[in-house]
Amino acid sequence: MKVYAAWNPSAVQRQGSASGGVATMLARAVLEAGGVYFGTRWDEQMRPVVAWTETDVAPFMGSRYVQSRFDAAVREQLERFLAEGRTVLFVGTPCQVAALQALREHPHLICADLICHGTTPASYLEQELAFLAPGASLTDVHFREGPLFQMSLWEKERCVHRRPAARSPYLHAYLSGLSLREACYRCPYARPQRVGDITLGDFIGYPQPGVSFVMTHTPKGEEWLKRCGAECEERSFDERAAYRPGLLEPTAPSALRPAFLKNMERMPFPQAVRKTLRGYFGGLPFRQAWKWLHHQAYLVKCVIKGQSQ
Ligand SMILES: Cc1cc2nc3c(=O)[nH]c(=O)nc-3n(C[C@H](O)[C@H](O)[C@H](O)COP(=O)(O)OP(=O)(O)OC[C@H]3O[C@@H](n4cnc5c(N)ncnc54)[C@H](O)[C@@H]3O)c2cc1C
Ligand code: SF4
Repeated sequence: MKVYAAWNPSAVQRQGSASGGVATMLARAVLEAGGVYFGTRWDEQMRPVVAWTETDVAPFMGSRYVQSRFDAAVREQLERFLAEGRTVLFVGTPCQVAALQALREHPHLICADLICHGTTPASYLEQELAFLAPGASLTDVHFREGPLFQMSLWEKERCVHRRPAARSPYLHAYLSGLSLREACYRCPYARPQRVGDITLGDFIGYPQPGVSFVMTHTPKGEEWLKRCGAECEERSFDERAAYRPGLLEPTAPSALRPAFLKNMERMPFPQAVRKTLRGYFGGLPFRQAWKWLHHQAYLVKCVIKGQSQ
C-alpha cells in the first residue's frame, strides 16, 4: 500500500471536484485510452444514480451526500464493456465497489473506493428538495463549494437556494451522523484494508485545502494514478488517520438519532429533521453572537498587546 497527497495541478479543471479532482483525472485518463467511466450523477428527475460515460466527465464531479442507485442493468452493461475488452473505471462508495467483488481480478477493471462518511436514503433528499424548492426545475445540487460544506440548489446557472452546513438541516443532519442509513453506522468497509485498487478521500490535516488523500493497493491502481497525471506527494497513512470516521471506523450515530427516528414515524423528513434539530437551530443566533463577542475580545487583546510592545 502506498499513500499520497494528490491533486490536479490545473485549478480550472479542479473546480467543481470534491477535493483534489483525482477521480476526474483517472476518468479522463481511462476515456483517453478508449475506456469507459462509471460513477454517480443525477438523472433527469434529480435522483442520484450510478451511470457511465464514454465522453463527458463533468456531470460526475463533486460528492453527493446521498445513496446512489446501482441498478442490475448498469452492472450488466459494465460486464458487457469488460467482455468487449474495454478498460472500465468504477468510482463509488466501498459498498458499491464490493458489489463488483466477483469481477475484482478482471485485468481491465479498475475500482476506486471513496472514504465514506455514510449516505442518507435517497428519499430524504427527494423530500428535502421538494420542501426547499417546490415547483423548481432543478438541474444540480451541490453539497460543497471548495473546502466549505454548503448546500446549494441550481436551476441551470441560477442558484435558487444556498445555506452553509451550520444553517442547512439536511447537511447538518448528514455531517453530524443523524440521518445516515442504518447500515452505515455498522459499515464493514470503514477500515484501512480497502476493497478497491485505489482509495480516494479528502486529505484532512494537509496544510492546503483541495488536496486528495490517495491510497494505492494494487499495481493497477498505482499504474493508473501515475498515468492520470495527478501531482503526487508520497505521505504516511498516520497523517490522515487522526480523523478516523470512514477510514478506521464507521461514523457514530448522533445522540439525537433516537428522537429523529421517533419523529420520522410521525412526519415526513423535512419536518422530522427540523423538529429534531430545533434546539440546535434555535440556539444558533445566540451561539453566533457569542462567537462574535469572543472574536471582538480577541481583537481588543491583540491591540492592547501591540500597544504595550
Ligand atoms: C457519500 C460520500 C461520503 C464521503 N465521505 C468522506 C469522508 O468522510 N472523508 C473523506 O475523506 N472523504 C469522503 N468522501 C470522498 C470525498 O468527498 C471525495 O469524493 C473524494 O476525495 C474524491 O474527490 P475528487 O476530487 O477526486 O472527486 P471528483 O473528481 O469530484 O469526483 C467525484 C467522484 O465521486 C463520485 N460520487 C459522487 N457522489 C457519489 C455518491 N453519492 N456515491 C458514490 N459515488 C459518488 C463520482 O462518481 C465521482 O467519481 C465521501 C464521498 C461521498 C460520495
Ligand atoms: S458508510 Fe459503508 S455502507 Fe454506508 S454508503 Fe458508505 S460504504 Fe456504504
